Amino acid sequence: MIRFTAKLGIYFMLLDNTKNGFTLKSNFELRKAYLLFKIISNKTLTNIGKTALEISLKLRLPILFIVKGTVFEQFCSGETLVESFDTVKKLHNKNVKSYLHYSVEGLENENSYDLSLNEVLDSINFVSEKKILDFTVFKPTAIASNVILEKRSKGESLNDNEKKLYKRAYERFNKICELAHKKDVKILVDAEESWIQDAIDEIVLDMMIKFNKDKAIVFNTSQMYRHDRLGYLKNLHKVAKENNFHLGIKLVRGAYIERENKRAKKNNYLSPICKSKELTDDNFNKGASFILSNLDLFSLFSGTHNEESIYKIIEIMKSKGINKDNSCIWFGQLYGMSDNITFNLASEGFNVIKYLPYGPIKEVIPYLIRRAEENTSVKGQTSRELELIKKELKRRDSI
Ligand SMILES: Cc1cc2nc3c(=O)[nH]c(=O)nc-3n(C[C@H](O)[C@H](O)[C@H](O)COP(=O)(O)OP(=O)(O)OC[C@H]3O[C@@H](n4cnc5c(N)ncnc54)[C@H](O)[C@@H]3O)c2cc1C
Repeated sequence: MIRFTAKLGIYFMLLDNTKNGFTLKSNFELRKAYLLFKIISNKTLTNIGKTALEISLKLRLPILFIVKGTVFEQFCSGETLVESFDTVKKLHNKNVKSYLHYSVEGLENENSYDLSLNEVLDSINFVSEKKILDFTVFKPTAIASNVILEKRSKGESLNDNEKKLYKRAYERFNKICELAHKKDVKILVDAEESWIQDAIDEIVLDMMIKFNKDKAIVFNTSQMYRHDRLGYLKNLHKVAKENNFHLGIKLVRGAYIERENKRAKKNNYLSPICKSKELTDDNFNKGASFILSNLDLFSLFSGTHNEESIYKIIEIMKSKGINKDNSCIWFGQLYGMSDNITFNLASEGFNVIKYLPYGPIKEVIPYLIRRAEENTSVKGQTSRELELIKKELKRRDSI
């Protein structure tokens, strides 16, 4: 199935196998997914859909069943942890692991942060009870105030009340990482906007020093669309070497490019984002290469749908003689996207994991809107999805 081309030095065509890629999808589901991506690929239709949804929700019109049968089904694994576990088992049968995320965005207050903390702690306990799960995840702004994280990132001094709030936020990080360590569950900390990220990096570094002594349990996320992140990774490596702990890194390109550039322009500072997509791609690949060259200390969770980067990582692994199932290397994709990557890598024996968002339909709508908007803006990704579904339907029709 895999062709190895000496000239290119890469596995070629691995990710094009649509029979593997859509192994879990019936013809009906594939046709539905095709229609959905077709609508999403059209910016005007996506905007109309978004506005119609918002108005219908305000007017309390019964439209949730439409959401359920369309975007929810495509991008979410269920309304509850238990409901999602059916999907987890289906994926596991195909050698694909899962990590579940309660994708409900709470209010920005201490009460809501405490509720989110409990949800993350519950998810760690859930994962530790289920033998087929390894990771869980949380978003820092679900447990800590944006305002405090921003002030801390800027190095501004905090007043007494803010110091108290920062301490409470720090303790929430600590409770999560402590339980993850105790239960041997790997924990991914999502990356956020650059103006609050320094404070997050600082706390997560403390957590890695404390809980990653024997292996990577705590994973920070590095957004490689930021031009300073290769330096960040190199510095982390130095600190880990000097202080004898392991580094877990979720490597991504980054999700907030528009907000980042807009804010930099408005406030007249140099944008932290690479000047072009090519520079981001290069930065991502260099980051992956640096990590793979230092696997004695690093674990890599590669969160990308970019096929070139995946081929690159496979190529580096091959050239360094790293086993496909090395326990320090994971490939992650979002549920409902890039199944060709997920199932083809898994069938070849690589460690693959799907990000499974779940929650009550009404509550996960902001996540679903973001997914639809992202797919509208990531033109290449949507047309790739459409191309692959079309190819698979044709293959099935010809049998
Ligand atoms: C499992 C997983 C976990 C994730 N976790 C996080 C997270 O914690 N935090 C987070 O921010 N994101 C996260 N993401 C999203 C991720 O950062 C990307 O937005 C998304 O995956 C698309 O990038 P790509 O590498 O898949 O592929 P591609 O489609 O090749 O890349 C698109 C990305 O390239 C960058 N880009 C596009 N145009 C330009 C340009 N003109 N100049 C510079 N850069 C450009 C942007 O980052 C854009 O999102 C996660 C993604 C996955 C799959």
